[in-house]
Amino acid sequence: MADPKGFLTTKRENATHRPVFLRLKDWREVYDEFGNERVQQQAGRCMDCGIPFCHQGCPLGNLIPEWNTLVWKEDWKRAAERLHATNNFPEFTGTLCPAPCESACVLGINDDPVSIKRVEVSIVDRAWDEGWVTPQIAATKTGKKVAVVGSGPAGLAAAQQLTRAGHDVVVFERADAVGGLLRYGIPEFKMEKARLDRRLDQMRAEGTEFRTSVNVGVDVTAEQLRAEYDAVVLAGGATAWRDLPVPGRDLAGVHQAMEYLPPANRVAAGRLDRSPIHAGGKHVVVIGGGDTGADCVGTAHRQGAASVTQLEIMPKPPLSRAEAHPWPTYPMLYRVTSAHEEGGERVYSVSTTEFVGDDAGNVRALRITEVAMENGRFAPVEGSTREIPADLVTLAMGFVGPEKADLLTDLGVDLDDRGNVARGRDFQTSVDGVFTAGDMGRGQSLIVWAIAEGRSAAAEVDTYLTQRTVLPRPIEPTDRPLV
Ligand SMILES: Cc1cc2nc3c(=O)[nH]c(=O)nc-3n(C[C@H](O)[C@H](O)[C@H](O)COP(=O)(O)OP(=O)(O)OC[C@H]3O[C@@H](n4cnc5c(N)ncnc54)[C@H](O)[C@@H]3O)c2cc1C
Ligand code: SF4
Repeated sequence: MADPKGFLTTKRENATHRPVFLRLKDWREVYDEFGNERVQQQAGRCMDCGIPFCHQGCPLGNLIPEWNTLVWKEDWKRAAERLHATNNFPEFTGTLCPAPCESACVLGINDDPVSIKRVEVSIVDRAWDEGWVTPQIAATKTGKKVAVVGSGPAGLAAAQQLTRAGHDVVVFERADAVGGLLRYGIPEFKMEKARLDRRLDQMRAEGTEFRTSVNVGVDVTAEQLRAEYDAVVLAGGATAWRDLPVPGRDLAGVHQAMEYLPPANRVAAGRLDRSPIHAGGKHVVVIGGGDTGADCVGTAHRQGAASVTQLEIMPKPPLSRAEAHPWPTYPMLYRVTSAHEEGGERVYSVSTTEFVGDDAGNVRALRITEVAMENGRFAPVEGSTREIPADLVTLAMGFVGPEKADLLTDLGVDLDDRGNVARGRDFQTSVDGVFTAGDMGRGQSLIVWAIAEGRSAAAEVDTYLTQRTVLPRPIEPTDRPLV
């Protein structure tokens, strides 16, 4: 156990955020320095529970009480080893995960949970600073070739595990840079891309090969892929977005979030001078109240929007756990992200019925109606329709699954009843030797699930190729998301 009295004597703390007026001038992560001594104290709050429910909350099965104890004892190097034993990329989860482990923490029953995410990111940051994260090069090669399609967290985790198992792994990515949504979806202020780049350097040094600007199914056919590689991992994500087909949808100024965020991320990375879709001086409305919507809000603030309004069809969530979400489940709560701290208005229980345009065909307003749940459906509240100004609208309403064209049709993989790539318990699709991991098989989800699936699928691919494996398999495809 860490500090036997830590949970009694120390209050939960986390990193504060840089002042809004300062952070809106840049794209850097929003956190202030926290300091390793304070991290140590926070790790000391862990009770090393007999049944650590934090494990249950984490799809990766992170060994949370072990690394809390090691940090408390100032053995940061061993803490980093234990952290990497279950997670290829703790810096991605340490910055971006909604932390179902913290919702499941036993201390959370009657006090604030342990700051697990802060401890996690502090361990991995220290490990990089000290030079403890080095390439792990396979001792022997198998001579087997694996193609991974898609370079998001699922593809990267699968590729790193398989390379370390001795296979020759090539990752294909249709974008011009590696990382999936970590690269061009999630903004720099949530996770600086330098974290991704140094991990990719480690992977290259281990022998993983990356080929960018290659759209598999178009630039490389499914047939070529099957002929050249002994196994294929499909990790192309759930990139087909949900649309809002109401009158005025085709007006100029109405965009999907994933049309708006990538160019803004390119600007932040110095790959583009100015985004063609820019919020500067505009009344911005973001439709959709989730992570993607919050990323649009933070981006619009940094671009100098005149106003930012975020609309959500669901009612405002409660401030504390509702009866339907008891401990240790991940509760639906009213959460204020860093982007929300920066300004703007959040409007709940409203539905957009029309985009209203000007004579030049540009959007100028949204017609919205309040809604209430009636017999399990949202019904408009009579007399509540109103217009709100909007010069730029982003649709952040989620994703309906993987894109069905080219790659999936040419490979001939079956889809499940939700339109995702169907797979068995071994992550194999209906086509022999073709596996899938991450959002492509699971549907829109989280980074932590993508990494857990990538690791598990790698173990199955290794077994398929060599009839045995020592790779860990944290989850099965049947595991349902906790978040
Ligand atoms: C804006 C946004 C913000 C988010 N924020 C968070 C967050 O804060 N925390 C969190 O946990 N989750 C977040 N998520 C969800 C999370 O990013 C995803 O669940 C996760 O990235 C899925 O990983 P993946 O590897 O399955 O797919 P992706 O990250 O989507 O990567 C798939 C990659 O495959 C490539 N690809 C697809 N088809 C082909 C092809 N035919 N040939 C070559 N390449 C191909 C795509 O270009 C893409 O780069 C967010 C999602 C979005 C959209
Ligand atoms: S549940 Fe919380 S207190 Fe218990 S071991 Fe996990 S982090 Fe520590």
